[in-house]
Amino acid sequence: MDHKPDQATATGTATASGTLSGRTSRTTCGRCGSTADGLPLTWACSVENGRRLYFCDTCARKHLRSIEGRLDSAWW
Ligand SMILES: [Zn+2]
Repeated sequence: MDHKPDQATATGTATASGTLSGRTSRTTCGRCGSTADGLPLTWACSVENGRRLYFCDTCARKHLRSIEGRLDSAWW
């Protein structure tokens, strides 16, 4: 007798992670990974390699010079 795992039940509950449609979009900090609803004014935006990255207020303050210098976060 083959017992196959039911994939429908495995994927049926995977709605909690990173869906951009339907709900208020959440912004994830590209540095520490913390999230916030929408885009707080205190967060900083940095474009790296054509991708838009956001940083929370803590990380933005900490790395303000790096962000303003448009340097990649890879070297931090
Ligand atoms: Zn952060």
